[in-house]
Amino acid sequence: MKIIRSIREMRDFASDAVRSGKVVGLVPTMGSLHEGHLSLVKASIKECDITVLSVFVNPSQFGTGEDLEKYPRDIQKDSGLAEKEGVDVMFVPSEQEMYPEGYSTYVQVTGSLTDGLCGASRPGHFRGVATVVCKLFNIVLPHKSYFGIKDAQQAAVIKKMAGDLDYPAEIRVLPVVREKDGLAMSSRNVYLTQEERKKALLIPKALKRASDMAESGVTSAEKIKKEIEDILMADNGPRIDYVEIVDPATLDPVESTIGGALIAVAVYVGSTRLIDNVVISERTQHGGNE
Ligand code: AMP
Repeated sequence: MKIIRSIREMRDFASDAVRSGKVVGLVPTMGSLHEGHLSLVKASIKECDITVLSVFVNPSQFGTGEDLEKYPRDIQKDSGLAEKEGVDVMFVPSEQEMYPEGYSTYVQVTGSLTDGLCGASRPGHFRGVATVVCKLFNIVLPHKSYFGIKDAQQAAVIKKMAGDLDYPAEIRVLPVVREKDGLAMSSRNVYLTQEERKKALLIPKALKRASDMAESGVTSAEKIKKEIEDILMADNGPRIDYVEIVDPATLDPVESTIGGALIAVAVYVGSTRLIDNVVISERTQHGGNE
């Protein structure tokens, strides 16, 4: 596995690959890799000739007072895992390489896709995400790029950005990978104390209950949302940032889950912000019970 730190070298490598007819897959991450990230890597390796894994803790997507400084970083461990999976190139640019002095261009997807959900409590976050992914697309020239539905709003924003800016990569969005106890894998889980981790388990519990309700024919978004909130608001439970039931593509709130919906949750457990979601597919609906 090659480790590339410079943009020029990365683009030269990618241009050569594209010129020789190779299908290039890109998996953008902030590192501290876990099985969730590796599921994206595995998909890219299966579907592409060359897999580039980028590891960059992107400062422009962190707000003031957020965890940019303490965000876990372990390039040594990440490169071991990436190599073992069969990644061809790990692209690890420095902050200076990505945002040199005088840098002043940002990509912003406007409107309801970025105003609500995480956008409401993290102003500027998706501008940072869209900017860095756009830069990575221009550097790595991927035919396919891989994202997790765990960050459903991010995936929707990237799809919109790629479409609006005519970037031809196929955006692949893959399922949430969970710990054995149901907690969605996240690099931020390391922040949780044992006590907080117990509280965090209310998230998958609430989402499981929501899927079961949908499965049994409940289609009222209000009823499902209320059930999730009741579970999360158990004694001393996490602090809810939002519980929303939305259209998976537009992220606009829906009244009914008929036709498919995304149930999105964000909470604070102590000072750690965790997000998770489930997709209620069209097929899940049996109808009848409202
Ligand atoms: P991050 O390093 O947290 O920015 O995540 C990089 C990519 O991995 C994003 O597309 C995430 O949605 C995806 N990802 C993170 N956690 C998971 C998970 N538990 N399951 C699947 N994909 C994930």
